[in-house]
Amino acid sequence: MKIIKTDVLIVGSGGAGLRAAAAAADGGAKVLIVCKGKVNRSGSTLLAGANVSADVMCDGRSMASMNIGIGDENDSKEKFYQDIILEGVYLNDRALVKQYVENAPTVIREIVENNKNLHPKGDDREIGIPGSTIIDTYYKMIKERDVDVIEDSSLLDLLKAKDGNVAGALFLDLLRGEIFAVNAGATVLATGGMHNCYSFTSGTTGLAGEGQAAAIRAGAEMTDMEMVTFCPGVITHPMKWRGSILPYIIHTNDEFRLRNAKGEEFMDRHLPQSAVDLALHSEWNKLLLCYAMYKEVVDEGRGDEWGGVSFDLEFRDEEHEKAFLDRYPFLKTGTCNEMFRYIKEHRGIPVYGAAHYFDGGIMVDPSFATSLRGLFAAGECTGGTFGANRVSAATTQMLVQGFEAGKSAAAYAKETGIRELCPNCLEKAEADALRPFSEGAKDPRTLKKKINEIVSAGAGVVRNEEGMKKALSGIKALDLSVYGVTTSLREYNRSWMDWLESRSMLVCAEAILKSSLARRESRGVFIRSDYFYTDNDEFLVWTRYRDGEVRLVPVEQGDYPVPGGRLGYIENIEAVIKRLSYS
Ligand SMILES: Cc1cc2nc3c(=O)[nH]c(=O)nc-3n(C[C@H](O)[C@H](O)[C@H](O)COP(=O)(O)OP(=O)(O)OC[C@H]3O[C@@H](n4cnc5c(N)ncnc54)[C@H](O)[C@@H]3O)c2cc1C
Repeated sequence: MKIIKTDVLIVGSGGAGLRAAAAAADGGAKVLIVCKGKVNRSGSTLLAGANVSADVMCDGRSMASMNIGIGDENDSKEKFYQDIILEGVYLNDRALVKQYVENAPTVIREIVENNKNLHPKGDDREIGIPGSTIIDTYYKMIKERDVDVIEDSSLLDLLKAKDGNVAGALFLDLLRGEIFAVNAGATVLATGGMHNCYSFTSGTTGLAGEGQAAAIRAGAEMTDMEMVTFCPGVITHPMKWRGSILPYIIHTNDEFRLRNAKGEEFMDRHLPQSAVDLALHSEWNKLLLCYAMYKEVVDEGRGDEWGGVSFDLEFRDEEHEKAFLDRYPFLKTGTCNEMFRYIKEHRGIPVYGAAHYFDGGIMVDPSFATSLRGLFAAGECTGGTFGANRVSAATTQMLVQGFEAGKSAAAYAKETGIRELCPNCLEKAEADALRPFSEGAKDPRTLKKKINEIVSAGAGVVRNEEGMKKALSGIKALDLSVYGVTTSLREYNRSWMDWLESRSMLVCAEAILKSSLARRESRGVFIRSDYFYTDNDEFLVWTRYRDGEVRLVPVEQGDYPVPGGRLGYIENIEAVIKRLSYS
């Protein structure tokens, strides 16, 4: 087997992976990126802001210092820090939030300075920049630094040295069907979210949680795996636009209406009027709208034939419509215009809540070291920064974390050198990946579908004990060994890929479900119908998952102590929002 040696191995090439690679190269390391798709064209980063404009954030005062016409001198890093903890309903890892707030201005300045023709639109704390611009900025940076890249290759497993340190990873070259190993001084996982575990997602294909699953298999500690953000207003039909979040992007205004299959508006049936206002006019819309949609569709059975509701736009007159289009000029051309016309002609477009962002993931410290020596992680595959709810930008997260993880990995690799791979570990990982060629014969596509159905039913927008237990036993009953490849050719073998993705999805699904069962309350994006309150007395805890077991660890409150007590889920959100510096 081919074994490639490098100081720092980066797995994934979204914003986190590219920023990590540039930082590691600046730290003097020889760097190799291996990614499942094309280096500058895979992952969620490219989709951020639905390719219109992703929000990238820092505190208002730092933003004002960039002379780009936005910002707020009265804001401060301290206020931003406190707001992120409130938004995360107190569950955030304080040290990770500090790292985020401190370093956010640096990465934003970097993008602005590298894109002189950019006309960023935004508000006091936030600028809108297309995800593709972010990717192009950092792609240029890695090219200037001669970072090596291997594309179209998927992570199979992490590899260890004899002393137990992570010393690289095993990959499958998807096009050639060849397995190869990378032996590295330090490894950084930047593999994004676990979208494929769910039937309906806004993410790109290929995001199957393989980084998280490899970390779990290697014995890494995970945090808050139950925290999954769903995005409302994601198109379910027509098929050509399924998964697009355009309705969500344009919904935060007075023109939009959500209707059930009977053509009735339903928000105020499930939310008190004060929360309806928040759902319509605040950044907390994701969880509140998803909750109301879930109640209408799943509990009340008034969903449409695609399992969702209708998103419509209503204008008083032509002038009103013109003003709306001037606010969203991207609706005037191309595919966005087609969608806009569809909504008008059909008096709505079918939408529902889709798995969108994973707040939980691999546990990291502020140097982005994981619990395994030699392994670092950055971006959406990590957990802890946003606690129970992300309102601030994930794009900022991926960049500040990538930067630090790359620096730390280079320093680690310099100190320890490249350890020899443990031969048994290598053989075992290869044999595991080849199992579908000699074991079962069932098409793994059916397995993927089963996992999707089980996870979506048991760990969706609203959960309960019975549903989660049923889902967990459903996942455990799925036997990977009865599934196998449908052709023995190794080159671009889609059934092999499906099998491999399913293997990881099963690992992630178990972690998500077990962590969900352990949290007997509702908090942020995590909603339980059987514990519909937030419990700061008993559940101000992180769920830590390792080797199949969940531990509840009290949140270290540090310089941001949390009021005790138990409040209804919606009342708690309203109370938290009142304390935000910008409300
Ligand atoms: C539609 C959409 C819109 C969004 N809009 C916004 C927004 O406006 N603002 C905001 O802040 N956030 C937004 N987000 C979230 C944000 O885009 C992501 O959290 C962020 O881009 C994640 O960056 P990342 O580098 O961690 O992962 P990604 O960009 O997802 O990159 C993951 C990388 O890992 C690779 N990979 C995955 N599996 C493997 C494997 N097995 N082997 C090798 N490589 C692998 C992928 O190919 C990819 O290169 C949005 C997300 C979506 C889906």
